Amino acid sequence: MSIFTKIITGEIPSYKVAENADFIAFLDINPNAKGHTLVVPKKEENKIFDLSKEDYTSLMDFSYQVAKAIEKTLPCKRIGMSVIGLEVPHVHVHLIPLNAMGDIQFMQKVALSKCEFVTLAEEISKNF
Ligand code: AMP
Repeated sequence: MSIFTKIITGEIPSYKVAENADFIAFLDINPNAKGHTLVVPKKEENKIFDLSKEDYTSLMDFSYQVAKAIEKTLPCKRIGMSVIGLEVPHVHVHLIPLNAMGDIQFMQKVALSKCEFVTLAEEISKNF
């Protein structure tokens, strides 16, 4: 069972920003930038291009809505999107508020307090 499935089942906590029957979005715990969010299908699958075309399209639709909410919440030049999965083998889309190329490079990280995570998740959630 992946760590993201444990989040989905409520076994471990997350800073949730959005959810429907098939997907969940929560803040990345080690963010590249403030507002870095992961969008995850509830059905555990390892690689994004192993999803059915329908599930892939639904994931993109949900990610689109989450990106709009992040953009509404945080001032940034644009929302970047990345799919990696080398650390957690459960499909997820990274949505990252970008102001500079470094924000999408997974090298620099920002430290947020628990209180900042909670507030941020609430703010994005309200704009969803
Ligand atoms: P990757 O699999 O390379 O796309 O990276 C996995 C991402 O998941 C990283 O950005 C981690 O910071 C993030 N991550 C790992 N565990 C958690 C967690 N429990 N809650 C939120 N984000 C996580």
